[in-house]
Amino acid sequence: MKLTKLRLLGFKSFVESTDVEIEPGLTGVVGPNGCGKSNLVEALRWVMGENSTKAMRTADMDQVIFAGSGARPARNNAEVGLTIDNQDRTAPQAFNDADLLEVTRRIEREKGSTYRVNGREVRARDVQILFADASTGARSPALVHQGKVGEIVNAKPDARRKVLEEAAGVSGLHARRHEAELR
Ligand code: ATP
Ligand code: MG
Repeated sequence: MKLTKLRLLGFKSFVESTDVEIEPGLTGVVGPNGCGKSNLVEALRWVMGENSTKAMRTADMDQVIFAGSGARPARNNAEVGLTIDNQDRTAPQAFNDADLLEVTRRIEREKGSTYRVNGREVRARDVQILFADASTGARSPALVHQGKVGEIVNAKPDARRKVLEEAAGVSGLHARRHEAELR
């Protein structure tokens, strides 16, 4: 699975419909402080099913909706779409019948979020599983938030080891070993 496009509408500072093409190779996002670089990465986490408001740097989830500025009124909904190239057919079985997957998450003020994959409504859990299997996902160590690098450098050895184990993909093995030892 390859992420090929991120589409934002009304998400945080992205009030107008914005398409971000994700080309093969390294993509850099540059711009002055406050221009929306972190918001972009948060949109990626959010469409993958992130439900922690802390990870979104908000007090409640409705605050990811464009809040208005100057002459622009606030919106009542926000939507993020993520296009995935699935030509290698590595998506979980439930979604593995299409070359292209478009995952969308939409939030309506005071009504919460709905998720769709290629237009069909699915549960948040289905979307989380879709990305968990690809070892990406909202909580994946592949997504490093601002300040995290400093946190890792300053962490106690135990905490730092946890981060490295997550990144190496062995933390799941520990959980399974623990389960086996209990039997
Ligand atoms: P830095 O270089 O300082 O890390 P950045 O490019 O990462 O900056 P972001 O943190 O992504 O910047 O963007 C912050 C901007 O997003 C602020 O101007 C803030 O007002 C705006 N913003 C956040 N949430 C909303 C919202 N719900 N509605 C409108 N604007 C918002
Ligand atoms: Mg930032």
